[in-house]
Amino acid sequence: MTQRFSYQLQSTDGQARQGIVHTPRGDIRTPAFMPVGTAATVKAMMPSSVRETGADILLGNTYHLMLRPTAERIASLGGLHRFMNWDGPILTDSGGFQVMSLAELRKLTEEGVSFRSHIDGSRHMLTPERSMEIQRLLGSDIVMCFDECPALPADRARLESSMQLSMRWAQRSRDAFGDRPGHALFGIQQGGDDEELRGQSAEALRAIEFDGYAVGGLAVGEGQEIMFRVLDYAPAMLPTDKPRYLMGVGKPDDLVGAVKRGIDMFDCVLPSRSGRTGQAFTARGVVNIKNARHQDDPRPLEEGCPCPACSGYSRAYLHHVFRAKEIISSMLLTWHNLTYYQRLMADMRAAIAEQKFAEFEAKFHAGRAQGDVEPV
Ligand SMILES: [Zn+2]
Repeated sequence: MTQRFSYQLQSTDGQARQGIVHTPRGDIRTPAFMPVGTAATVKAMMPSSVRETGADILLGNTYHLMLRPTAERIASLGGLHRFMNWDGPILTDSGGFQVMSLAELRKLTEEGVSFRSHIDGSRHMLTPERSMEIQRLLGSDIVMCFDECPALPADRARLESSMQLSMRWAQRSRDAFGDRPGHALFGIQQGGDDEELRGQSAEALRAIEFDGYAVGGLAVGEGQEIMFRVLDYAPAMLPTDKPRYLMGVGKPDDLVGAVKRGIDMFDCVLPSRSGRTGQAFTARGVVNIKNARHQDDPRPLEEGCPCPACSGYSRAYLHHVFRAKEIISSMLLTWHNLTYYQRLMADMRAAIAEQKFAEFEAKFHAGRAQGDVEPV
């Protein structure tokens, strides 16, 4: 593992970028979508199946893994890649966001966040230093800075003090991460929906220097219009020669709009979680497989989709196994949704490389406007 982590920008179309992130564990084609493997598994999927959908990288959650089975246990068992049988790159979040959304009795100080586990009530402390240690124990390829992220809307004073705390924590994260060839540390821009604060945050991060940069603090309840307004200026404040990651986003139209505005990497539980609740993403919008209209439908979920759900089964079967609460329902719909997301990313990469992103975007929206195929 001597290869360095690097980003190669290959083509642009407007603000949209297409490239490759090189890591010792393999290349990540960007724009990239990272399926979420919260508890060392992408729910209902084998790692080899996730790979078959076209995923180059997975995301793991520090908060969940530190509580159960613990980072120390995973390290003693050879690290997260070996533990979950995924040999490609893994990005881990810092735990900060999920502590604030899931843990109990949280207390935020300059030092970090103390909290009680939502699983067994045990007491823990997350700091920039502890987050770096956990992500090192997991063996993460892309490590995220420990930060604090206010929900939107928030007033400017709150956004400013939170952003400044996150920038002090970014420096502490950088210091604690140290020099680890082949592993990357990403800084996280904060500042909410305030352009001036976003600029200050970007400046602070650039001074520290990171291997990549995330646009944080979005997808926290602000809605797509405000998110896109922030993305009209925020990515351009970050270095062009490093990957840009929009955390926790999103719906297919969020991804298209964010790629158009210069984002390279995404993660979201939506395709896998929706698969378990009977929702399927297609080029003609969302299909609710539980609806009675599918019970006699011999056609595939989505014509032309190469996934096992579409190549081997009818809508009628998918409807039946969902209603019967069979495990294969979650497996097939998750496989389809992850395939849909990866094909969407591949289509965007091709469109940017051919300088045809505007045509792609028009076709994407036209397909969704059509709605689902007529009932049989
Ligand atoms: Zn499919």
